[in-house]
Amino acid sequence: MSAAPSVSADLDTFRRDLRAWLDANAPAAVRGVLTSIEGQGNWGGRRPTFDPPEMKTWMERMAKQGFTAPTWPTEYGGGGLSKEQAKVLAEEMAALKLPPPLMGFGLEMIGPTLLNFGTEEQKREHLTQITSGAIRWCQGYSEPDSGSDLASLQTRAARDGDHFIVNGRKVWTSYGDQADWIFALVRTDPAAKKQEGITFLLIDMETPGVSVRPIRLISGKSPFCETIFDDVRVPVKNVLGQINGGWTVAKALLGYERSMIAEAFGASERGKKKGGVGRGSRLVQLARQYGFGEEGALDDAVLRDEIAQLEMDERAFHLTVQRSRDAAKAGHRPGPESSLFKVYATELNKDRHELSVRIAGAQGLGWEGPGYDEDEVALTRQWLRSRGNSIEGGTSEVQLNIIAKRVLGLPD
Ligand SMILES: Cc1cc2nc3c(=O)[nH]c(=O)nc-3n(C[C@H](O)[C@H](O)[C@H](O)COP(=O)(O)OP(=O)(O)OC[C@H]3O[C@@H](n4cnc5c(N)ncnc54)[C@H](O)[C@@H]3O)c2cc1C
Repeated sequence: MSAAPSVSADLDTFRRDLRAWLDANAPAAVRGVLTSIEGQGNWGGRRPTFDPPEMKTWMERMAKQGFTAPTWPTEYGGGGLSKEQAKVLAEEMAALKLPPPLMGFGLEMIGPTLLNFGTEEQKREHLTQITSGAIRWCQGYSEPDSGSDLASLQTRAARDGDHFIVNGRKVWTSYGDQADWIFALVRTDPAAKKQEGITFLLIDMETPGVSVRPIRLISGKSPFCETIFDDVRVPVKNVLGQINGGWTVAKALLGYERSMIAEAFGASERGKKKGGVGRGSRLVQLARQYGFGEEGALDDAVLRDEIAQLEMDERAFHLTVQRSRDAAKAGHRPGPESSLFKVYATELNKDRHELSVRIAGAQGLGWEGPGYDEDEVALTRQWLRSRGNSIEGGTSEVQLNIIAKRVLGLPD
């Protein structure tokens, strides 16, 4: 087994040692495994699913080095890497086609928010549970009558000594049925102006009174749930930030969420299907597979242009996001620019899936049955799923309002 790379080494030595360490420690079975924000990959939790089973070893080895959260402080289970070292880690993992050892809303949303707003006790309690993959988180923001106008939320939390008693209903809780803890916005002062009566609460979903009901969607998959709170007792120490000051915390978390969505949907599929290889990008591979000429649909000059344009847009976006990430200082909170990235990335992803379905022609409209293989059915479902991209994390219209007001300074 190769020695762990030292964070105090110079960057070239760090890269060399890291490459050797990754090569020695990454199980062959995880190389090239697909991961996505839509649940593929390892999301950890009390009831984890490791596919392939070697993902467990991969997660544990990486977590031991702090590499599940490379830039977080070491005392909270992070790697303590500088942003340059973290970039080297990402590059070396990409070179070996290694998937992230762990994914999810813990690492991407509530973790960074805890680092910014948490008490020392909260950081110690929750962050190592995230980096080790022990606890999986979900998001309890939206309600049946509060989406874009999130501050109108009605889930109530009434004070009872050292506890709050929570009652209400959240909706569209992604993976609520697989999560262990939920971060939720609750109303603690109904008399105050709507943004000023909200508190940000951390709730263990095993607490009596929490129940979760899956919701079925057009794409056939159901990552969505309703989460119901019925007299749920939550300790006051689980307030993140100030009581009635939850709106500030909520907005900061949305910045992380929008950055995560932009990164996830701005790039084309990472990794490859098991056993699937081929020249060129996924779109080029698809075009070669379908159509009538020698090069399949790629023989069509108009389609070739469209694929080239999409890939140029994707590359330009990737470089812009990279530049913005490089410019960000450690601990930097994403500002309204995350709305720009979110709109662009999600529109790009919708165009990408639209084009994939067009390339596949009638085979891109499969739902089930013997006429379509597994990849073709996935093509249709991913296309339908992509329609939700410009809704989740705040709709495109709402992002455009934010850009108009907070980036361009236009009047209301
Ligand atoms: C894939 C996906 C995953 C999600 N995951 C979660 C999750 O895990 N947790 C969670 O809490 N929520 C989640 N959501 C919910 C999501 O945050 C809301 O759907 C979103 O904020 C929009 O709210 P709404 O559905 O109530 O639509 P509405 O707010 O009712 O909006 C309806 C339409 O009106 C437009 N509109 C509303 N207000 C304005 C305005 N001021 N100006 C211009 N247009 C406006 C909207 O753009 C939209 O087109 C998810 C949603 C999706 C699609």
